[in-house]
Amino acid sequence: MMLVTLMFFRKKASTPNQPATTPQPSNTWADLVFANIAESICVIAHDGSIRYANDAFARLVQETNDKLIGQPVWRFMYLTGPDSQPLTISKVAAAWSGEDAALLNGIYHFKGKVLDVAAHYVMSSDEHMILVIRDVSETEQARLDADEATKHLKIEQTKIQEIVAKDEAMLRSIGDAVIAIDKDAKLTFMNDSAEQLFAVDAAKLIGKPAVEVLHFYDEKGVLVPPDERMLLKALETGEPQGNEEEARSFYHLPNGTALALALKITPVRLKDTIIGAIGIYRDITHAREVDRMKTEFISLASHQLRTPLSAIKWFSEMLLSGDAGALNGDQSDFAKNISLSTDRMIQLVNSLLNISRLESGRIIIDPKPTNLKDLIQSVINDLHTLIEEKHHTLVVSVHDKLGEIPIDQRLIGQVYLHLLTNAVRYTPSNGEISIFVSANGDHIISQITDNGLGIPVTQQKKLFQKFFRAENAVKVETDGNGLGLYLVRAIVESSGGKVWYKSEEGKGSTFWFSLPKAGMKAQNGEVMLETDHT
Ligand code: ADP
Repeated sequence: MMLVTLMFFRKKASTPNQPATTPQPSNTWADLVFANIAESICVIAHDGSIRYANDAFARLVQETNDKLIGQPVWRFMYLTGPDSQPLTISKVAAAWSGEDAALLNGIYHFKGKVLDVAAHYVMSSDEHMILVIRDVSETEQARLDADEATKHLKIEQTKIQEIVAKDEAMLRSIGDAVIAIDKDAKLTFMNDSAEQLFAVDAAKLIGKPAVEVLHFYDEKGVLVPPDERMLLKALETGEPQGNEEEARSFYHLPNGTALALALKITPVRLKDTIIGAIGIYRDITHAREVDRMKTEFISLASHQLRTPLSAIKWFSEMLLSGDAGALNGDQSDFAKNISLSTDRMIQLVNSLLNISRLESGRIIIDPKPTNLKDLIQSVINDLHTLIEEKHHTLVVSVHDKLGEIPIDQRLIGQVYLHLLTNAVRYTPSNGEISIFVSANGDHIISQITDNGLGIPVTQQKKLFQKFFRAENAVKVETDGNGLGLYLVRAIVESSGGKVWYKSEEGKGSTFWFSLPKAGMKAQNGEVMLETDHT
């Protein structure tokens, strides 16, 4: 580092003989103050000699006071500016000559410290320059740290902006329609697919309340009121909303076309606060149409299969009853086999037909005040041969005060029939089966329990899928097509109830289903459920 002297030049000619008066503060209180303050103070005569220095100054230049007095200041002190340029003689000279010591004010570096220098020109009997020096190294370091932190923040900010830009580009280009709303349900984002799907110009909608600019309707064309909109529900409850399995939301295009949409709304949380929501919409109009056609096909095919099956059944019965003459042992066995297989086939066709009817929503629902005890008894009567063959004990308990519930007996009868058939079928001989019906709040709960095979825990998640049959059941029971529980769930859920179960392999199973006490709502459908008696 370059040594620079602080040179002080006389501005006015002073009398050479006149002894230099040193403004040594003689007052004891002043001494005390100057000795103890944190600032370094140094008084310099125009020839650069130190007239006074306080303790802080002596510590700063690492000398003792007595060695400083009378010595030229440049021996102890050299300053460089923040730009590493030394304080120049010409600048010092200018300060003296202009009687403007403030020219020297500024931030300097000295022995690894950062100093804030304030210079004062004093004209008394002689000229003096008072330097008040403050060590600002810490503040300066803090400032540098802050600068560094700001720089760092800017880099992070740029990175975040890049991520946001990438995310936005991704969201923009994905096939599903995506919108985002803020905590006030105002639209903040809409991707290209959403613009296309809703046939809108996103720029005109951003900032507006989403439920006011994007209207949804139910299947019957009735506008969904704002308080039922899933976007608002997601914001209110913090729970994801959606109807991915089945479209219940319809969007009407300007040309009147109704689009069936599968949608998923996910609330966006920042720590514990919900700051908005993301909505993803998929047009499933076509998929629904294909599904409808498939259901229609199964319905038609099943229907067509029933006539020849009935004929086979009819003729095999005729053979068995000897209408075509007496059968020998083998012939009779074969005819029985034909008859039994035909029964199974008719059951399968009926189940398929029923599923397609339920799925199409064309089913007639005809609720009639029903005593559940009687309904259950009629189901038991249908199954009594099977129950007796297996020597099962059957316990039935129906809450006395249930009264009559308006339900469709054909539909709910099928639910009891399938659950009870399963209990009987999948319980080895001499088993125990119970049916309990009780009231719970505004629902009626039916419980069917057996101590039979149970369902292996690894297969339970498939229980309500079409055609599912558990391995342990298939081994001991050939009868069954895996459609019963699917039908049970479809009927119960369309009646406003739920189905659930508990099962342990080797110990038994319990199935429960609920129905609203208020009963079922009537529906003017087109078809009825097939029962095996129809
Ligand atoms: P299916 O009885 O005609 O096979 P379901 O849909 O009624 O068809 O039942 C599906 C499968 O679930 C059955 O094959 C059986 O493996 C299992 N299951 C249903 N109910 C019971 C039960 N009570 N005990 C044991 N397994 C059962």
